[in-house]
Amino acid sequence: MTTINELNTIAQPNWCPGCGNFAILMALKNAVIQLNTPVENFLLVSGIGCSGKLPHWIKLFGFHGIHGRALPVATGAKLANHKLTVIAHVGDGDCYSIGTNHFIHAARRNINMTCLAHNNQIYGLTKGQAGPTSDKGVKTKTTPRGNFETPINPLALAMTSGATFVARGFAGDVDHLTSLIVSAIKHKGFALVDILQPCVTFNKVNTYSWYKKRSYKLDKKYDPSDKEEAFKKANQWGRKIPIGIIYQEKKQPSYEDELPQIKRNPLVKHSISNVSVKPFLEELM
Ligand code: SF4
Repeated sequence: MTTINELNTIAQPNWCPGCGNFAILMALKNAVIQLNTPVENFLLVSGIGCSGKLPHWIKLFGFHGIHGRALPVATGAKLANHKLTVIAHVGDGDCYSIGTNHFIHAARRNINMTCLAHNNQIYGLTKGQAGPTSDKGVKTKTTPRGNFETPINPLALAMTSGATFVARGFAGDVDHLTSLIVSAIKHKGFALVDILQPCVTFNKVNTYSWYKKRSYKLDKKYDPSDKEEAFKKANQWGRKIPIGIIYQEKKQPSYEDELPQIKRNPLVKHSISNVSVKPFLEELM
């Protein structure tokens, strides 16, 4: 069984002390250990932002991509070798703004991968501009008189787009977040875990205590297969914020299930010894 020490890298995270990203990294390590899957089966893909640095600080295969494009890279990797456990680490600005179209299409295709969204409701790496999930009225460097834009609702958007697993976690509760990440990885299909991640340096509104006061865990009686109820929960924000598995549909085939080319073997295992690319090249000349 893998240990925490085996997942640690020599390099230390350079996030600000107290940043919610530390808890997400810890929850991911816990999840990898609990899943008891060989570490070489994991692939982490990230975009740009403070969240994007995470693959550097856990000893798993990783690819640090470009802004908003973690999901297309993760999709390509998954289709090349669908036996891999592919996890995309994205930020709210990264995924819900510049990469929104990729998010919608990954969800609608139900690609079997996990998307962990570090949602701090602000652009942290670029030092505190309002982002797509910033609350209305919040004052930031780019909204000194208060944000007048309506924030995006990532959970509702994911469900509307066709995601089959939609959850919300909180970086202030590592054990609960670990269980959500484990469930998301085990789920067959596109799984989003939107994580309330305090940015202690630039977001002085949505702090640990702000989230702690408002977040509550969905109880055992809650049925995540009820889409109508799930939309109600996804829309609950402000005084009360639900955390847990908001929506799960277990019977949808994943994108890879529909591809006859990879039914028997991952693409990377296909022999290409008798394939000649010469005719294609000649056609292009
Ligand atoms: Fe974390 Fe914010 Fe610092 Fe980035 S700027 S490392 S999100 S606290």
